[in-house]
Amino acid sequence: MIQLTDLSVRYRDDLVALQPTSLNFGRGEFTVLLGASGAGKSTLLRSLNLLTRPTTGRVTADDIGAIDGRAALQAHRRRTGMIFQQHQLIGRHTALANVLLGRIGYHSVWRSLFPLPTAEQRIALECLDRVGLLQRALDRVDKLSGGQQQRVGIARALAQQPRLMLADEPVASLDPASSRRVLAQLKRICREDGITTVVSLHQVELAIEYADRVVGLAHGRVVFDGSPDALSAGV
Ligand code: ADP
Ligand code: ADP
Repeated sequence: MIQLTDLSVRYRDDLVALQPTSLNFGRGEFTVLLGASGAGKSTLLRSLNLLTRPTTGRVTADDIGAIDGRAALQAHRRRTGMIFQQHQLIGRHTALANVLLGRIGYHSVWRSLFPLPTAEQRIALECLDRVGLLQRALDRVDKLSGGQQQRVGIARALAQQPRLMLADEPVASLDPASSRRVLAQLKRICREDGITTVVSLHQVELAIEYADRVVGLAHGRVVFDGSPDALSAGV
């Protein structure tokens, strides 16, 4: 579905964050990027939607081809959902408004308040329903728990109807029980919709529990690429 070919990232002359790497992420595959802090997970993840510009190499998607020009990049980003550690929601707005931001963009949400366009609203509400937060749609996000906030983040990304979902340490700020709920939900939803998903984590046990495939990174290099079973056999 999406390929990295000889991709490397160098932030400064003396800092190669990612050594030349070639990886292929298949449709619907749930991949965990596993590595310690500074290993290059975030750099690799952000290269997939070119939030980080690769120093060498290229990113190619099956349906778009090489993602180089502006039009290809826009088409690619429109269909790429992004989930962050600090969820990047707007706390004083409702869960519903935040999900609509993922769907129609900040300015449109603002111009449209109120009434919101009903078709858009329905999609946003369906996304909140899928993460189990329909009842909280009209609550301010800063009134929700950390896990609930992260699930609003999933709903917002889902509202873009993505074909690629990128989650950068989505559970790093959550307790173990919430972490598992968030990862289980993310995996279920992405499987149901056939969304190719790449999630970065630093906990081996969570990677083994949830990944279809684990890509291990250390010092900017891929040091493992295989099934969670193969990983646990090697641990
Ligand atoms: P991880 O997500 O695994 O913690 P990162 O991809 O964030 O790893 O970082 C990889 C390396 O690149 C680290 O040495 C980090 O300090 C460095 N780095 C990350 N982002 C930048 C940046 N914007 N400018 C300079 N160095 C960076
Ligand atoms: P507050 O005082 O809590 O910031 P505001 O009424 O000023 O409340 O606005 C709420 C948020 O909406 C602010 O972050 C503001 O930047 C944003 N906002 C308000 N109007 C617009 C607009 N027309 N376009 C984009 N953002 C807007």
